[in-house]
Amino acid sequence: MAEQYDLIIIGGGPAGLTAGIYASRRNLKTLIITKNIGGQASNASWVENYPGFDKVGGFELMQKFQKQAESFGSQFKYEEIAKVEKTNKHFSVKTVTGNEYQAISLILAFGKTPSNLNVPGEKEFTGKGVAYCATCDGPLFKNKIVAVIGGGNSALESADYMSQIAQKVFLIHRRSEFRGEELLVERVKSNPKIELKLEKVVTEIKGDKFVKEITIEDVNTKAKDSLKLDGIFIEIGYSVDASAIKDLVKINDKNEIIIDEACQTSLAGVLAAGDVTNIKFKQIVISAAEGAKAALTAYKYIQDIKGVKEAIFDWGKK
Ligand code: NAP
Repeated sequence: MAEQYDLIIIGGGPAGLTAGIYASRRNLKTLIITKNIGGQASNASWVENYPGFDKVGGFELMQKFQKQAESFGSQFKYEEIAKVEKTNKHFSVKTVTGNEYQAISLILAFGKTPSNLNVPGEKEFTGKGVAYCATCDGPLFKNKIVAVIGGGNSALESADYMSQIAQKVFLIHRRSEFRGEELLVERVKSNPKIELKLEKVVTEIKGDKFVKEITIEDVNTKAKDSLKLDGIFIEIGYSVDASAIKDLVKINDKNEIIIDEACQTSLAGVLAAGDVTNIKFKQIVISAAEGAKAALTAYKYIQDIKGVKEAIFDWGKK
């Protein structure tokens, strides 16, 4: 028989872990199913804008969230979700390894996955010089030449981080203006180890066993140039993989789950929080707050269910 919980939280990033803290403190039997701890936030070399911390490693901060959730009683399973369904009395979550878990309520907080450039050579050289996480793979490029692609906060932070490890960093962006924070833009522009390649796009990644060179193209003149390097970090944003939940709740044209101000989705009992939703700003502090809201809404929903139809909470009875 499938394991039974009051609440299942899918995703172990800032939203999911905070939801775990709040739900467990309400004595809800809470399971967090996640592929890893921290999600995108764990990839941040440094977090400088989470209140209360001057500067903290992204993974370190997420481990603190996890410990706190665990200390209040949240349980964890490190698995990938295959399917989420509503059955008669509860929700069923099936994982790719074939396990099934059931709960009265769900919080969807599985964030986003890194976008691909979709240029020749990207797939072939992934793990052989092409990477999507500077904090994870950056140390492999000590004293080497690397490029970071993108113009948002992730690319700016990665370029800054890689400048402390690599011999030289090219920051390649398709426009002349960055969309990341002004403070990060200033930091990158004044860093002598970072060379900006603006209004340029990568059109090909070449090498033999490992990456050796990339071709870049000027977006205005279409002139091509090549850069000899050892690694390329693709930091061009994230997208939602909605495959497991698209038949369950309403999503928008970006595959983000549509929620109201209490984190309720289109299906009663299913809440969502953080980057996977259509909230406007994607920040650790915002995702954490959304996770707290979702947990409190789930608590109210579960209390209502338990109060009105007690038998539903008694998993032993039909
Ligand atoms: P993002 O803000 O969506 O930026 C993606 C960047 O990649 C943009 O500059 C975009 O160019 C460029 N891009 C997208 N597709 C491209 C393509 N096919 N080829 C070349 N360039 C492409 O993504 P992000 O930087 O990963 O950040 C995601 C979210 O997390 C944001 O909300 C961000 O603020 C947040 N975040 C915050 C922090 C922080 O607060 N310190 C740190 C990391 C992330 P255009 O600008 O031309 O569109």
